[in-house]
Amino acid sequence: MTKNTVAAGGESLLAKKRRARKINKVLGEFYPYAHPELDFRNPFELLVATVLSAQTTDVRVNQITPALFARYPGPREMAQAELPDLEAIIQPTGFFRAKARNLVALATRLVDEYDGKVPPSVEELITLAGVGRKTANVVLGNAFGIPGITVDTHFGRLARRFEWTTSDDPVVVEREVGELVERKEWTQLSHRVVFHGRRVCHSRKPACGACVVAHWCPSYGMGETDPVKAAKLLKYELAPGQEELREAYLAAVEDPAEIRMASQRALLAESAS
Ligand code: SF4
Repeated sequence: MTKNTVAAGGESLLAKKRRARKINKVLGEFYPYAHPELDFRNPFELLVATVLSAQTTDVRVNQITPALFARYPGPREMAQAELPDLEAIIQPTGFFRAKARNLVALATRLVDEYDGKVPPSVEELITLAGVGRKTANVVLGNAFGIPGITVDTHFGRLARRFEWTTSDDPVVVEREVGELVERKEWTQLSHRVVFHGRRVCHSRKPACGACVVAHWCPSYGMGETDPVKAAKLLKYELAPGQEELREAYLAAVEDPAEIRMASQRALLAESAS
């Protein structure tokens, strides 16, 4: 990996926009299969899964949502849920008492105010219990096709490392990154950056020496720069020994969720045996 050529500080807005769009393009080429990693079949399921994903991993949420939606297929059923029953199903996702209360309140409001449908606007979504801008943007972008930037912990960290922003405030990060990248790209940009954060640009040990956007990243060098050592830090389908999984993703860029679900199930079966 070549060392980056980005000078710290003094970058014009135009140069920053060009660099941000280049990073988005290169990440898009590297992760053509980037997609939401929560499993869902409709806006309600995505809304609930995203609320459950607070303080836990998408894999853990995906483990329990099949049972959850078999029991409560829509807002009307969930609004009627007995809290102890709901808590028992969602317990593995943590903070399950608060999440259960939020889900029942959220479902009740959907039934009472929106005829049992998920409203397609940030302003309405953030009035629902347990729903903030991050969740609202996930739902709009992925269930309604309305572009949105999802600022989770990975996105915020990478946006700062890319010097697209200096802010820790998700609302400011969303606004400042939105000024750099075309609106139509916002949802996919979010997936690509989160994919990169999970696989390469980790919180504590970024794999700079194995990073496809190192050339445009002002933070190159904050992690391992030796290519061989950096490659060992990669995760998921980029991890050493996962070449077949990566090949499968690249061969199915239109439908990567199926492959991810199959590989997650295999891992869970392996860890349970
Ligand atoms: S891994 Fe290193 S070079 Fe790549 S985005 Fe993260 S900090 Fe920048």
